[in-house]
Amino acid sequence: MLENKDKQYVLNTYARNYVNFKRGVNATLFDDTNKDYIDFTSGIGVVSVGHGNEKVANAIYEQVKNITHISNLYAIEPQALLAQKIHELCGYDVSMFFANSGAEANEGAIKIARKYGETKFKSKKYKVITLAHSFHGRTITTVKATGQDKMHTPNFAPYPEGFSYNHYLKDIYTTIDDETVAVMIELVQGEGGVQPLDKAEVQNLAKFLKEKGILLIIDEVQTGCYRTGEFLASNLYEIEPDIITLAKGVGGGVPIGVVMTTLKDIFVPGDHGSTFGGNYLVTRAALEVVDILDAYKNSGALDEAIIYFEKKLAQLFEENQKVFTQKVGLGLMRGLRVVDEATLAAVIKSAFEEGVLVLKAGKNTLRFLPPLTITKEEIDEGFKRLAYALTKI
Ligand code: PLP
Repeated sequence: MLENKDKQYVLNTYARNYVNFKRGVNATLFDDTNKDYIDFTSGIGVVSVGHGNEKVANAIYEQVKNITHISNLYAIEPQALLAQKIHELCGYDVSMFFANSGAEANEGAIKIARKYGETKFKSKKYKVITLAHSFHGRTITTVKATGQDKMHTPNFAPYPEGFSYNHYLKDIYTTIDDETVAVMIELVQGEGGVQPLDKAEVQNLAKFLKEKGILLIIDEVQTGCYRTGEFLASNLYEIEPDIITLAKGVGGGVPIGVVMTTLKDIFVPGDHGSTFGGNYLVTRAALEVVDILDAYKNSGALDEAIIYFEKKLAQLFEENQKVFTQKVGLGLMRGLRVVDEATLAAVIKSAFEEGVLVLKAGKNTLRFLPPLTITKEEIDEGFKRLAYALTKI
């Protein structure tokens, strides 16, 4: 049985549900008994163009039939084409490096900032300020960059130095010192509770940092690639970051991370690298994903999906005031604050039993990250099941 094998051979890092998904069609998944589930999670914001996307599958097949991987010692055509496409869509004059995950993209961002701090000033700058409820990854450095206390367990200490945290953007101004090289933030804190930052506050901070020559790193691992309605949340916030990271939705399920920067000459050969990063397989797949989403956005369909999802979410919220206290989020990155943690756990469990997948964020937020291509029918069905699930808790 899957459960036995998983428990026997796989390290115990996730509190798993023992369901055996066999196939998926857009935002609908089917298990080994052919029970269907509406997927409001998209694999935590990854399967942006839906499950079983034929265009992506065909692009991958055509690519791996010829070349899957060569190494970064040779130019890689789909990598260059993907970089060109991201450059065109993001609206900033950036160059980029391809990694394999969000954490790795953030590692790259921190390395860029550190090299900048080492080489551009008379005395070294290396400190990075992040937010207390942030999440930036699971490597030792990105765990330390993550502001949440619970992540800094002594189990993995010692951590690299040079990271400090503020609860609010307004406190960053006084935390900055002569050794501060960068501020790193998510514009909508995903794991922290689907909390969007205030646009004017972000713009003021961005302006201040630019004047001081301190880098602004925007972690768009979760918000990027149209999740908030624009290609980047940075576009929505109308700021000009120095470094931006992407992952999750860009690959639609293939492991990819991107760190892009306006500091185009920061690295020289040997500074950074990755065996798999940006290989033929992942960049060909991601190119297809980004092309699909670009066309989807231009057709108006993404905005329609966002509006429809919001409407149904608002309805669920209004009709369940004893369970939900607040609506949060942007685009197709949404949350409902739940009265308490135990109720949230009960909602997620009941939803699963009724055939709808939803997520937890922070302590008490029910989180929604559906595929961006979710249809109205799937939205209707998902919310119908969720409403029913709520009657059962
Ligand atoms: N940054 C943010 C904002 C994230 O939401 C995540 C993952 O949830 C990460 C970084 C880490 O990404 P990965 O799990 O791909 O390493």
